[in-house]
Amino acid sequence: MKSYPAQYRRYILFTLLSLFVFPCYLISQSNLTVGEVSTAPGEKKSGYIIVPGGDDDGPVKVPVTVINGKKEGPTLALVAGVHGYEYPPVLAMTKLSMELNPSDISGKVIIVHVANIPSFLRRTVYYNPYDWQNFNRVFPGKIDGTSSERIAWQITKEVIDKCDYLIDNHCGDGNEDLMRYLYFTETGNPELDKKTKDLAVNFNLQVIVHETGRTKDLQNSMYVSNTALLRGKPAISTEVGKLGQTDESDVNEVLRGNYNIMKHLKMIEGEPDILFESVWVEEYQIIRSEHQEGLYFPLVSRADHVQKGQLVGYLTDYFGNRLQDVISPYDGIVLYIIATPPMTEGEPMVMIGRF
Ligand SMILES: [Zn+2]
Repeated sequence: MKSYPAQYRRYILFTLLSLFVFPCYLISQSNLTVGEVSTAPGEKKSGYIIVPGGDDDGPVKVPVTVINGKKEGPTLALVAGVHGYEYPPVLAMTKLSMELNPSDISGKVIIVHVANIPSFLRRTVYYNPYDWQNFNRVFPGKIDGTSSERIAWQITKEVIDKCDYLIDNHCGDGNEDLMRYLYFTETGNPELDKKTKDLAVNFNLQVIVHETGRTKDLQNSMYVSNTALLRGKPAISTEVGKLGQTDESDVNEVLRGNYNIMKHLKMIEGEPDILFESVWVEEYQIIRSEHQEGLYFPLVSRADHVQKGQLVGYLTDYFGNRLQDVISPYDGIVLYIIATPPMTEGEPMVMIGRF
């Protein structure tokens, strides 16, 4: 066998690579790994993002499903369970992960089934039971932080950094009587805002709350959706469901919204199922408790129309003495109201949107 000089061998090797290997990368979809879950195009796999334990808490396994479509397209992250007592999105994600088939999908879908596992398993409202932080205020997280911060850091790295679009699916927490609405956060970047607005309109809930005041600090982006937005990725937060319940109609509404997004992004066949025109709320107020503790009494319900000056709830001490009246600041709509008695200082009592 004749041997070729070194420079020819390199040339032959490069030619063979060019012919057989490089084109595969150019024409095919790419692999995607999220946590422990590695997928090739055409594969659907489930597993976990492992968050190492800290001084006072053990490791956390965040369940994820990756559907790596056969055809080219964007990567969409669908997140649920950022608050652990918000169940319809969690149930919808399980259903969605079973229904989606990689051969029908253009692009990739990352489903985070339950982001805040400690809160979910311990059944806590708002807070992680290991550090008592609100998980949707600690992003982008810290590699060596508290339990919430460490989980957030992994989700930022494994999910937010790897997606092109993100939907953060929330609902009324265990104490929140909440109507269906979503947050459209405007960033001031016209191209990004246009794409985000398209997500908001196509998810299609009754009300869109137009947010302009979210922080622009990349190191302290606080919210899941804001963390994606500050990285240039269109993202919305949605609210469907209430009071820690599991109504089938809420689960189906979460599904309709997320399917609408996939249709809008041309990741699956079909047109978004738009049932109504959303009402835009350009201004809102969250009225908070000014007292260390007490019992809260709501006087209105979710989606009620209220008038300026109307008493919508009040706070008492344990002995029935009135501590604080909750008055509507304008003619508007009740986006959510706390419907259970416990109340501590600084916690929201009602959110009212102005028409
Ligand atoms: Zn929430």
